[in-house]
Amino acid sequence: MLESENLLKGLLGTADDSKVAFLTASGTGAMEAAVSDIFDSDDRLLIVVGGSFGRRFAEIAEVHGIPYDVLELEFGHELSETDLQRYDSAGYTGILVNMDETSTGQLYDIRMISSFARRNGMCLVVDAISAFLADELQMDDMGIDAVILSSQKALALSPGISMVVVNGRTCSDRISRIRSPSYYLDLKHHFKDQERGQTPFTPAVGTLLELNRMLHLVHDQGLETRIENTRSLAMHFRKGAADLGIEVPGYRLSNAVTPIIFDHGAKDVYNRLRDGYGFTLTPTGGDMADRMLRVGHIGNMSIQDYDDLLAALREVLE
Ligand SMILES: *Cc1c(COP(=O)(O)O)cnc(C)c1O
Repeated sequence: MLESENLLKGLLGTADDSKVAFLTASGTGAMEAAVSDIFDSDDRLLIVVGGSFGRRFAEIAEVHGIPYDVLELEFGHELSETDLQRYDSAGYTGILVNMDETSTGQLYDIRMISSFARRNGMCLVVDAISAFLADELQMDDMGIDAVILSSQKALALSPGISMVVVNGRTCSDRISRIRSPSYYLDLKHHFKDQERGQTPFTPAVGTLLELNRMLHLVHDQGLETRIENTRSLAMHFRKGAADLGIEVPGYRLSNAVTPIIFDHGAKDVYNRLRDGYGFTLTPTGGDMADRMLRVGHIGNMSIQDYDDLLAALREVLE
């Protein structure tokens, strides 16, 4: 556990005095722990809602009675400096954002958001569940106060473990002062036990062992190499999709996922790929349900996989 903590801090680029909690929960558990233990009813949060994971942050703040406003993005709009400037000097104390809003694949510019947070004295919490290891993320250098991670996305492990990583200042200014509303997710308790490499409750041991191996693997392979591999898979697929005339959104995209857009009939494409070719893409909910599918680039994927997928897509579209 201590080794995993150190490897993780190294890969995240955060100082020794940052704290790591290994929670036995899916990513939403770590989102809830971070929001409810870093903020309380005296705070005022700004939440970037560009899709279903941003919406989830707002629902968590709602449940815990933490005042918040949402900066809502219409589908297709790229979060900009102008969008943020409307919220300058407005009394917000924290900002919550999903680095890759996995439901749309939009990769927010964390440095831009961090400079907004700094000039307004806000605490910046970043859900990097699908971005960590797929896109560049350096916690201290990017001015991020807390990072939320989970085992089953770009880490490509079994589900079961989620992490909250908090810098020293946020621990002493906020977590130590705020009374956790939860017994199981109380970060103070997890941080304290982790000092001696323990968790307060029985963890998902198998997933923790996988995590330790993966952190070693990425450490040995090099973080840049890992990110570059994912990036090249994403670029290869995007180029092939463009050659087939398939539309991909114009906003900044995470390397983790490529949304593909159709005028209509996305569900039909989904079914034909699955039933006829054995490819399961990720469907989309809500307004975009019949217009968008998502193609993942994380996990054990190869260039050949995308060539096969593109060949299948070509046939289906014809
Ligand atoms: C998957 C994901 C989550 C967490 O979902 P769980 O099903 O609770 O693990 C949170 N945020 C983002 C950005 C995600 O991609």
